[in-house]
Amino acid sequence: MAKPFASSADLGEKRQSLEILADGVYALTAEGDPNVGAIEGEDFLVCFEAMATPVAARRWLARLREHTDKPIRYLVLSHYHAVRVLGASAFGADVIVAHEKTRELIAERGEQDWASEYARMPRLFEEPGSIPGLTWPTATFSDRFTIDLGGGRGDLVLQYCGRGHTEGDLVAWLPERRVLFAGDLVESQAALYTGDAFHRDWASSTLDRVASFGAETLVGGRGAVAHGKDAVAAAIGQTRDFLTVMMREVSAAGSVKEAFERTHKALAPRYGSWPIFEHCLPFNVSRLWDELHGVERPRIWTAERDRQVWDELQS
Ligand SMILES: [Zn+2]
Repeated sequence: MAKPFASSADLGEKRQSLEILADGVYALTAEGDPNVGAIEGEDFLVCFEAMATPVAARRWLARLREHTDKPIRYLVLSHYHAVRVLGASAFGADVIVAHEKTRELIAERGEQDWASEYARMPRLFEEPGSIPGLTWPTATFSDRFTIDLGGGRGDLVLQYCGRGHTEGDLVAWLPERRVLFAGDLVESQAALYTGDAFHRDWASSTLDRVASFGAETLVGGRGAVAHGKDAVAAAIGQTRDFLTVMMREVSAAGSVKEAFERTHKALAPRYGSWPIFEHCLPFNVSRLWDELHGVERPRIWTAERDRQVWDELQS
């Protein structure tokens, strides 16, 4: 029997858990759905990631408001993917910060990515009609952007670590608390999505840079919060291993179909039961095949191309 397209049949509600990681530092995880977070400044809030729709974002904000009523000055977007940015209007933030490449990617392919992700993950798009349009960052940077949290709380450092999950991922680092919000550059017990990735950079220099912070708590893009240095190392190690196995298997294959079959066989024993594994793998292999055959930048995913690749590889 054919597998249902991407996550289109994944309609069961996930349980959301709000964790307080340190005084004024929050993470909302949801059994493998995209994670979000917030950091309190002395008299303002920084929110990290925006969810897929304003209605979904308002449910998160209602939970956050049980802990703080500070106004939201900054909304930080780790990268351009629709399920992380299209809820932005609910935050009413003064400033929406992203990497400069993220802004360019939204201009280049934001519309197509919206249609693609909506068809792949319809459950995340709670009341899709509440989305007012694409989300445009109002402040961008190339290497580093620092937010002074005030009142002796130290800085929140937004850092570009190189090409990885996309061309413009940032991480948010709170040195005072040794907490790292890694976006989709690191997953903790969730499969990787690499359909817009630069696998070789990600698996080497970019993850080296992420590891070099020496975080003691890490919030990945999906999955549980990693608590403690060992768990942080395990999450980064899992991400690197997933990429390394993919590169090994796809390089050894003579066709994209064979690449998919080899990669699936090699990854499934360890990762097959993790969230979005079957959903992501055809898109991942398609992109890596391109990358290893000289296609420098990821091709744009459209709803049509998604179906075509799915039918070719996963059915
Ligand atoms: Zn992503």
